[in-house]
Amino acid sequence: MSGETAGRRGRAVVVGGGFAGLVAARVLADRFDEVTVLEQDPVTPETGVHPHAPQGWHAHALLARGAEVLERLFPGLRAELGEQGAPVYDYGERISFLLPTGYAPRARTGVLIQSFTRDVLERGIRRRVLTLPQVRSLAPVRCEELIAGPDGRVTGVRYRPVGGAAGHETPVELEADLVVDASGRSGRLEDRLRALGVHAPAPRVLDARITYTTVHFPRPDGLDYDVAYQMTFAPDIPRGGVLLAVEHGRWTCSLFGYDDQAPPTDAEGYLDFAHSLGNPHLAEQLADRTGAEPVHRYTNVNSRWFQYHRSRNWPERLIALGDAVCVFDPVYGQGLTVAALEADLLRRMLGQRQDAAGGLDGLARRYQRGVARVLLAPWTISGNSDLMWDPEHRPIGARIAHAYNRRLFAAAVHDPAVWARFARVVNMVASPATLFHPSVLARVLRPGTAHRVPPAPAARTPSAVATQARARE
Ligand SMILES: Cc1cc2nc3c(=O)[nH]c(=O)nc-3n(C[C@H](O)[C@H](O)[C@H](O)COP(=O)(O)OP(=O)(O)OC[C@H]3O[C@@H](n4cnc5c(N)ncnc54)[C@H](O)[C@@H]3O)c2cc1C
Repeated sequence: MSGETAGRRGRAVVVGGGFAGLVAARVLADRFDEVTVLEQDPVTPETGVHPHAPQGWHAHALLARGAEVLERLFPGLRAELGEQGAPVYDYGERISFLLPTGYAPRARTGVLIQSFTRDVLERGIRRRVLTLPQVRSLAPVRCEELIAGPDGRVTGVRYRPVGGAAGHETPVELEADLVVDASGRSGRLEDRLRALGVHAPAPRVLDARITYTTVHFPRPDGLDYDVAYQMTFAPDIPRGGVLLAVEHGRWTCSLFGYDDQAPPTDAEGYLDFAHSLGNPHLAEQLADRTGAEPVHRYTNVNSRWFQYHRSRNWPERLIALGDAVCVFDPVYGQGLTVAALEADLLRRMLGQRQDAAGGLDGLARRYQRGVARVLLAPWTISGNSDLMWDPEHRPIGARIAHAYNRRLFAAAVHDPAVWARFARVVNMVASPATLFHPSVLARVLRPGTAHRVPPAPAARTPSAVATQARARE
């Protein structure tokens, strides 16, 4: 052991220096003498997007709740992003938001958000974390194994430097009082657990295969919106897109589609796809891009929640968070906020133990149970919608929730108060129960609401798109 003493607790090791690993390292730095972050990419304090987290090139919305937590952990981050030109606005006022039932009201919701690229966000956080005196960054190194003692408790990790004479570098053992696995969606924590004999329950998986195609380009001044969005909605609207105002006067545009509706990567096909959407702002802005910008593509094959809180023999001194535990369908913009909430939970649990002069024993299992509580609501919200893409497996609960949402959207387009409640729930600053408050129920279930649901706005057929494309020629 590297030496646990009252108050300070030796060394913590974080596997993965992506978003979740960095936010966890920030929290751990308050409680450990040394926090070593292992990252397989050659990151420095100035790295933003990096090769093993390629989703970073795509539009990333940080929900209001996630922004609150980050600002508490990194005071001044919001202002720093603002100085680089990341706009701050009310969720209702500066978003052209096309719901399946029409446009959301352009009215104040009280939910303030800021938009920026994932690149600039991750760089801002990494710079702050890697320059903390307690934090040591080891990169590029790949964690290969967890090390456990005879009683099963995790005592460290075994890693190997990356990039030398391939595979011939000597593995290095690093002792730790606590190991935090934040190795993300491709980090294969489940393999390291299996090697240790830890029971890892089968993940809950939702097949909702979505492909993002993204470009970044200059944004003109004087528009009355900072975001133009078209939501997907099963089963009629498999295509969507977001145009997000980001720092340095630019747009990030991500178009996305489920299954065979992947947005093309060539400039003409990309613009055609944008024209097929019901919200015209995306195509209007894309018409002015040069077409020479790099194009990024990412397919998210499924959503997946590893139920580590149900493990029969989860080891002491190991905790897992971020995408290593749960990968969401990206269209709901939940991953960063959930990772921030999980790091915040760790901060609180470590704080309680320090106040009570408690050790780290018992922390790991309690923490994973806490993570499950954090995940339950966002997983249910996005899962109920995603289940509706599969015509053969639509559980009754998901069908009821989906039908309710459709009526809620039909009410929201005419009622700013309903829209404001929805905005608070999707930004995780209010409980989903808010949407079932008697005042909302009365509006949603009012006879006639369902009849006001117009046909899906994106229901233009490929032939209509082709006709439109020909008309432009
Ligand atoms: C297309 C797309 C769009 C998205 N949009 C949004 C959005 O709008 N809003 C939102 O909140 N979320 C969004 N997400 C989700 C978000 O990107 C993830 O939730 C977030 O990146 C999770 O962070 P993480 O640190 O857990 O994983 P990652 O960011 O994947 O980082 C994991 C890190 O671990 C490292 N690593 C892995 N294995 C090892 C090892 N053995 N040794 C050393 N290092 C290792 C990797 O190199 C990587 O740096 C989106 C995702 C996708 C795919």
